[in-house]
Formats: sequence, structure tokens, C-alpha cells
Amino acid sequence: MQTPNTGHLTAPSADVLEHAAAITHCQLCGSDHRTLKFRDGPFEVVTCNECGLVYVTPRLQGQALLDIYDEGYWKSNNPKVRGYADYARESALYLKTFQKRMGLVKRWLVPNARILDVGCAAGYFLRIVKQFGHDVHGVELSEAIAKEAIAALGSDRVHIGTLDDAVAAMDYQPQSFDLITLWDVIEHIPNPQAVLQRIRTLLKPGGRLLLETQNVASRWARWLGPRWHHYKHHEHLYHFTPATITRLLDDCGFAVRELGAAYAGKYVSFGFLAERAGRLGRIPGLLAKPLGLLKFCNLYVNPRDEMIVAAELK
Ligand SMILES: [Zn+2]
Repeated sequence: MQTPNTGHLTAPSADVLEHAAAITHCQLCGSDHRTLKFRDGPFEVVTCNECGLVYVTPRLQGQALLDIYDEGYWKSNNPKVRGYADYARESALYLKTFQKRMGLVKRWLVPNARILDVGCAAGYFLRIVKQFGHDVHGVELSEAIAKEAIAALGSDRVHIGTLDDAVAAMDYQPQSFDLITLWDVIEHIPNPQAVLQRIRTLLKPGGRLLLETQNVASRWARWLGPRWHHYKHHEHLYHFTPATITRLLDDCGFAVRELGAAYAGKYVSFGFLAERAGRLGRIPGLLAKPLGLLKFCNLYVNPRDEMIVAAELK
């Protein structure tokens, strides 16, 4: 067990605990045997002794969990704890990231594919993939950011709400999509099995699922321990490994065809790098400070601590 050396990573705990509930069983295998990885404020990050799933307990529940995805999530005054520093300001970098990721995505696409991006945020992925002639649709729970996707793609293509809401509201038919994507979404969903089973019904026979999630077994995650930037206990409820994400998908009727860190990086500004270096400690922060002056320069960074999984219906 490691102890965070950056002080509490979390926000003040009182209001959080009021809306949080202890998790008694592993979401993946049902076991109640687990080992503490580390404690951070009111939260514990634990590993299931049976299947190895890493999860957070206690956890925000119901509306309190949904409420974190408000305007402040996308322009956060404390992105270390919650959300993004300024998601919209970095739109050019997100578009460039998805443009590069097309190198992987195109291998799983059929011509004129019907695509659904679940958790589409501002619709950056859809805007890119649309340029290749595909029929694009998105669902986004957070109204604060979905407005951007609607402005870019139209209200007939983007639904604000859950996937279940969207199926009814947008009249998605069973077996009607060629590809469904979940970019950095699965770790936020309390019941990922329910969403994956819904996705299974929406895919055409032979349809594909592409997802990205952080890899808690990666070298970067193990080296940083509790300082790993993906430990955000309000929103990242699960931390998967190649083994646990494969088991989850298998349980829900998907066969994993490819899994790896290629194309799982992103374009970042030099200012972002300076901010992240500051989190590693005072010396790295000071060394990287001049980078912050080169605000308008960017580069592709892939610490290989996220994984992209391509899966097909079994
Ligand atoms: Zn388990």
C-alpha cells in the first residue's frame, strides 16, 4: 500500500460523504473480498481479490453523481480532482487527437458506416469521422458540453441524456449501428454491464465496439501510485487492466480483437505539460515552468497508460 504524498487529492469530504454509499461487492465478479491500494480522504481505492478489478468506495450515488458533470466539469478550477481545465479552449487539440486516432479507427470501419459515440462530449470525434463520409450520431449526459456537439452536428444527431433515454427519444432501432464508441467513458458508469448490453442490442451483426479507458496496470500508473492523474474518485469509479476490461466485455457478449496503447495518446499544449510536471513535485515543476510560456505549441504525448480496445459481437 502506498500513501499519497501530495496531500488529499480530493475535495472537502463532508458534502461528498452525504451523497456517497459504500460499495460492498465487486461489480465484475460479485466478490466482497478486496485489498486496499490506498486511502484518499473519504475514498478508498481497492483491488478485488477474486478478479483484480480496481474500484473506488464509497462512491457518489444517483443525482449527486450526475451533478458533477455541470459547467464546472468542463472548465474546472481544480482539474486534478475533477474534470478538465478548459475543454472548449483545447478544441483544436482534441480534433487533432481524433484525426490521428483515425489511423486505428478506420481499420474497424465499413464504408458509409452508421456510428454512435456514447459520451460524445463536444462531438469532436464525430466531427472528424463525419469528414470520411460516415453517418454520425452521439449521446451525451452533460448538457453543459452537449450544446457544443449539437451546435456542430445538429439536434437530430445528438441526444442529451443517457443511452437508454436516447434509444427512445431518437428511435434507435435494434441492430442499426456498424460502430459504437466509448472514449474515456466506461470508467465513469456505475453499471457498465447495463450499458454494454444495450450497446450489444444496437449493433448490427458483426458490429464493432471501440473504447478507450485508463490502464491501472500500466508502468506509468504503477510508478506514480496514488499520484496517477487518473485517480479522480468522484468520476473514475473503476480502473481497468487488460484482463478486467476483457472479462467485462466477454461477460457482455463481446470478443476482444485488439487491445493496446497505440493511438491512445493525445495532443497537449506545452502549458499542459508544465502543469502536469508540477504535479510530480517541486523540482519537475520548476524545470518544466519555461514550457508554460510556449502556450501555443503542442505535441503528441502517449505515456501508454491508456488502452484502446476493439471488440466485436460474439
Ligand atoms: Zn471481482
